[in-house]
Amino acid sequence: MNYCLKSRKVITEDKCLMCGKSESSRHILWDCNFVAEVWRESSLTLPNSNNLQRIFIDVVWKLREDQRVDWEIFATTTWCLWKNRNLFKHEGRCKQTKTIAREAEILVKEFRQKQGKLKSWLRSSVNISPPPL
Ligand SMILES: [Zn+2]
Repeated sequence: MNYCLKSRKVITEDKCLMCGKSESSRHILWDCNFVAEVWRESSLTLPNSNNLQRIFIDVVWKLREDQRVDWEIFATTTWCLWKNRNLFKHEGRCKQTKTIAREAEILVKEFRQKQGKLKSWLRSSVNISPPPL
């Protein structure tokens, strides 16, 4: 991420906040040791990725093909990682890897419960009848 901003001369620093290595989208969302620990803590069954996917979106497309990956948990975990990175960058606070992984799963669980309630509410309260002829 910083790499893109740096190439446009928006910023001059391109180091990962967690480990000091060069910061790319793939690094801060997939490869960084801290982030890799979050993925290990998650309940997802993730295939090994290799360096053929150089940027994070390539990792995403690769995982999209894999039916074993719970896509909602994957996407929400990615969002929680990004939120945590910003929390650390702007407020100097960082959550534990286990907390980030659990938070993502709780958010998905709540989303699915509310989605289920909404669907049953719609089924019970919306009575659609065809217009009179
Ligand atoms: Zn790092």
